[in-house]
Amino acid sequence: MIKTFVMLITLFATALPALATSLLRDADIEHAFSELARPILQVAGLRPDQVKIMLVDDDSFNAFVIDRHHIFLNSGLVLKTRSPEMLQSVIAHEVAHIANGHISRRMQNIQATRNAVRFGVALALATGGANKNPELGAGLAIGMSNSAQRVLNSHTQSEEISADQTALRYFSKLGIDANGTLQVLDYLSAQEYLASDRQDPYARTHPLSRDRLRSAKAQAQAQEPTTPDPNARYWHARALAKISAFSQNPDQILKKSKTAVSQDISHMQRAIALSRRGKLPQALKAIEKAQALRPNDPFFKT
Ligand SMILES: [Zn+2]
Repeated sequence: MIKTFVMLITLFATALPALATSLLRDADIEHAFSELARPILQVAGLRPDQVKIMLVDDDSFNAFVIDRHHIFLNSGLVLKTRSPEMLQSVIAHEVAHIANGHISRRMQNIQATRNAVRFGVALALATGGANKNPELGAGLAIGMSNSAQRVLNSHTQSEEISADQTALRYFSKLGIDANGTLQVLDYLSAQEYLASDRQDPYARTHPLSRDRLRSAKAQAQAQEPTTPDPNARYWHARALAKISAFSQNPDQILKKSKTAVSQDISHMQRAIALSRRGKLPQALKAIEKAQALRPNDPFFKT
């Protein structure tokens, strides 16, 4: 039954330096993400079956791409989105990075950075060895690493604005409310006032939020009125309900389940919370109620 949260420890060597990522693999949640992403991928001219959106077990607000086929969303980011449009705006931004060709360029930059860092370390070791002064060597290595980092960031800042503009174009073509984008950028702008060690990683890797907010506001004001998409609302609610049911206090989840967007989501949340409390017969009853409401749902099967 609820055996879907399989933890995988994966080491991604390409995206961010030495990024150790713990993925939460859950077919139901990944399906929810694909429902939210499908129209965006289609309008971007990408094949929905070729871009997978995966959940990272991390409380911080972050999203990233490592190649043209995988977008990663932190659980902390997903749980902070208050509407499907907020989550879709993050997805659309990352899709735009892929569609606009930023990813291949960024990967080359990262390769260049790596080489520079490696060179810096080699230089540092050589200098430290020659001078019998390891501190000097270490200082050189850090200096080289920072300058390589600056090269990487100067490339990404213009890409951020371009990804936002492309993402908002997707939104206006699809009739998705651009206020979702403004809410995400509002959140990130507030982060800019924090010291960098207190910022979410997304604010550090997606710079210039205030400038981005200004340009996004102008585009959002020009948007035609939109109608919310019930399918997006359902799958957004279901993904959030499941992630929180697995990660938050079961007693709070049992209370929260009463106000779920739909009855089947409420039963699913109860089933997870009850099974985490060891109340398996009650958990089974709850999942059976969810099944009765959605008999053809492959993720509610026992
Ligand atoms: Zn970006």
